[in-house]
Amino acid sequence: MSDAFDVIIVGAGIAGSIAGYLLAKEGLDVLVIERGNFAGSKNMTGGRLYGHSLEKIIPDFAEEAPVERKITQEKISLMTEDSAVTIDFNAEVLGRHPQASYSVLRSTFDQWLAKKAEDAGAQIIPGIRVDNLIVKDGKVSGVIAGEDQIESKIVILADGVNSLLAQKMGMRDELKPDQVAVGVKEIIELPQNVINERFNLKNAQEGAAWLFAGMPSAGKVGGGFLYTNKASLSLGVVCALSGLDDSPVPIPQMLENFKEHRLIAPLIKDGKAVEYSAHLVPEGGLNMIPKLVAAGVLIVGDAAGFCINIGYAVRGMDLAVASAEAAAQAVLQAMKQQDYSESALSEYVRLLENSFVMKDLKLYSKFPHFMENSRIFNDYPQLVSNIMTRMFVVNGTENLALRKKIMQEVKKVGIMHVIKDGIKGAYAL
Ligand SMILES: Cc1cc2nc3c(=O)[nH]c(=O)nc-3n(C[C@H](O)[C@H](O)[C@H](O)COP(=O)(O)OP(=O)(O)OC[C@H]3O[C@@H](n4cnc5c(N)ncnc54)[C@H](O)[C@@H]3O)c2cc1C
Repeated sequence: MSDAFDVIIVGAGIAGSIAGYLLAKEGLDVLVIERGNFAGSKNMTGGRLYGHSLEKIIPDFAEEAPVERKITQEKISLMTEDSAVTIDFNAEVLGRHPQASYSVLRSTFDQWLAKKAEDAGAQIIPGIRVDNLIVKDGKVSGVIAGEDQIESKIVILADGVNSLLAQKMGMRDELKPDQVAVGVKEIIELPQNVINERFNLKNAQEGAAWLFAGMPSAGKVGGGFLYTNKASLSLGVVCALSGLDDSPVPIPQMLENFKEHRLIAPLIKDGKAVEYSAHLVPEGGLNMIPKLVAAGVLIVGDAAGFCINIGYAVRGMDLAVASAEAAAQAVLQAMKQQDYSESALSEYVRLLENSFVMKDLKLYSKFPHFMENSRIFNDYPQLVSNIMTRMFVVNGTENLALRKKIMQEVKKVGIMHVIKDGIKGAYAL
């Protein structure tokens, strides 16, 4: 029997649609199966797409894609219950083409990307969940969805962080609590001009990205995020699954507390929460990368654990794009040679090794371990807040040199801790 499709892709997220687009463009018979009612309906992100990898595939994509705002302002805050210290970087260079980053809403962005794949010739079937893979003579040769079996020469797993299919194939172990974080997010509608004023933005094309450490995740490994969209804010909290076990504050409550903080409350005042979502984030870095290929099958995007969180930047979507591109190139080569064996498809791994995906994952491989330090989320936000308080509160009783005030505060955390953590942080980055 001849194969029904050249390639079946499971999942119409960013990785799946990019792979579908690139392969269909080259004339392959491609089927993309998505369990959601439409592409993006089940997907979530904090909100910022670093555009560099998509720019290579669809030059000037932001002119046609439903991106929200181009990020021209970066902010990072260390927060305690009642204070916040913020670094604010506002620069034209951040929005310079082609390295710009954009706030996005996945429900619209993913639909646009899926349409690109469809226009290139891919068939996209939404509303169907793939339950398993067909394996014949040790090679994956299609998918099983309910009663249906659909055959193909190659299957690409782009089914996201919780890839049960990769697990069923024995290519990945069950996720461990220290490899993933839970993210919850609200989309809060506000008029464009209110957002521009509150965030000091020139117009509705420019936007802000803001990351927070300390109070938002109740001192656990994690943090808060806020991205400005055209007429809404994406506001959320991420917390390592391992930290949630013994956290007295459940994650939905973390988000509520975050919204009430003196820094955040005025920014969302009179806003209307129109969407609430929750999702896992792969945060194990290099240590959670699964076996990426087997005969007839490749794994891309979050399903492969390709996500980097280094505190001041969260990146999964640019890695999803680049890994899908590498997979598509490997598949095209395999199709030419009519060789779908593991060794032929391993070209994917070689391409990834030479791309920023593996290079950056290796660069930041020590970071997830560095973050498992509760001082980062408790003691240091408090330390910085205490120093700021002693710098800026003038009451006539603190006649001490600033360096002495700082040393007194540092001693509360422990000088050796501060030095060691500083060195570890420098190595991890
Ligand atoms: C809270 C949070 C904040 C984040 N912030 C950022 C950020 O600011 N910037 C950034 O770059 N990244 C961020 N990320 C990471 C980023 O969102 C992911 O890396 C990215 O979405 C991965 O894309 P993907 O296509 O691999 O997977 P997904 O977007 O998860 O797509 C997987 C698709 O597969 C479908 N699917 C799953 N199983 C099946 C099945 N059995 N059958 C059929 N379909 C299936 C799903 O419905 C889904 O559409 C964040 C993630 C979270 C959760």
